[in-house]
Amino acid sequence: MKKIISRIAVLALFASILQPGIAFALPNKAGNGSAFDKKITERFDSDRAMEHISHLSENIGPRVAGTEQELEAAEYIQEELQNYGYETKTEEFGIADRLEGELTTSLNNEELAIRVATGSASTKGEDFTGKIVNSGIGLPGDFSKDVEGNIALIERGEMSFWEKTENAMNAGAAGVIIYDNTEDLVPVTPSLGDNEASIPVVAITMEDGQKLKEEMANEEVNATLNIAEISDQQSQNVIAVKEPKGKPTNDDDIVYVTAHYDSVPYSPGASDNASGTSVALELARILQPFPTDKEVRFVFFGAEEIGLVGSQQYVSGLSAQDVENSLAAFNMDMVGTGWDQATALYVNVMDGSPNTVWQAAEAAGERLGNDSLKLYERGASDHVSFYEAGIDAANFILRDPETASLEPWYHTPLDTIDKISQERIQTNGELIGAAVYDTVRQDVPRGKPKNTPNSNTDDYLLNEDPAPVQ
Ligand SMILES: [Zn+2]
Repeated sequence: MKKIISRIAVLALFASILQPGIAFALPNKAGNGSAFDKKITERFDSDRAMEHISHLSENIGPRVAGTEQELEAAEYIQEELQNYGYETKTEEFGIADRLEGELTTSLNNEELAIRVATGSASTKGEDFTGKIVNSGIGLPGDFSKDVEGNIALIERGEMSFWEKTENAMNAGAAGVIIYDNTEDLVPVTPSLGDNEASIPVVAITMEDGQKLKEEMANEEVNATLNIAEISDQQSQNVIAVKEPKGKPTNDDDIVYVTAHYDSVPYSPGASDNASGTSVALELARILQPFPTDKEVRFVFFGAEEIGLVGSQQYVSGLSAQDVENSLAAFNMDMVGTGWDQATALYVNVMDGSPNTVWQAAEAAGERLGNDSLKLYERGASDHVSFYEAGIDAANFILRDPETASLEPWYHTPLDTIDKISQERIQTNGELIGAAVYDTVRQDVPRGKPKNTPNSNTDDYLLNEDPAPVQ
């Protein structure tokens, strides 16, 4: 902030020396941005963004890749984009087969949150019921005879999931439940490496594991497992393209504004990533009527959480010409957390060096008096897919400025809308929107040089724009 004020002061001084008596059309009143920025900042409506977050995280809830809920979210996004006047395209793609299942215990018939191990056997969709037998941490000596044909309950830790599983199989167990050894709200996904178990293997939380152990001291507890392979599932990307329009253009550049809308299991995904989705939707609405030199593509990815599958699918489908014309990809993933400590808006770039997206964001930050930006070397979101194709890309994400930590409820059932900061949605929406608009907007028309005092170039563009869809 300090830096920007002094910079403007210097500029103003310069102007008054060079052009005494001329009212210099300085666009920047400290911190408010240029007239172009104002087209974004005055229109970005965080009430609307919060409605999107509410719909996605509360009405729909967890939106796991391949599920009906994920599809429902895609349809919602599509409808919104159509309301703003876009034609939309849905790009469907298959996702890898996976195991899914249920575990119900005889304690009040309770269904526990589980994750199925990669490499687990299925029960072929049939119920398997057995007694739960406490089997320590899964050393060979931890298994009693009782475990034969029953289900071993094993604590996580000290050796690999596969070693525990192998020992359980050798002891004759018909199933394995591993409970966590750290307090977490959702079970880990046990990986058996490249190994295939001949029995079902699932994980539960530490809390559930300890509760089971306590009850087992008093009474026999049974578990019913049902694990099935889910195949032929589809996810989808939703795409709206804003063609360049208005004055004649010879600009072939393509700019992307992207966010994933799926979530991890059990998480309503308000921050991750209804927040990014809501900002991308709001930018699509605002930008729709504006003349732009460049093509803007709003792309909403499915299946990010299972390995950036949607964005890889999308980018791999681009023609060589499109890739060559691609200028920048602005990706948003977790831009609205209300966590106190997440005061920095990280701009994650794969190689950590400034690129087109960072430069646009940094410049917008300076114009708007927003000094929360931080360039950072990191992948882990959909910007990776663009980077790998050679396209300048960055991911915007709120983190602790010192430790780079994410909100503590990341990827848990506590990622709910009550922990979203509408103020940050507004601020970040304005900043990213100003950066995008500055990248795609029409250059000053020929014959009207930029920054000529009293040229009214801003008005020229401003007056021409119809208002965004209400
Ligand atoms: Zn995410």
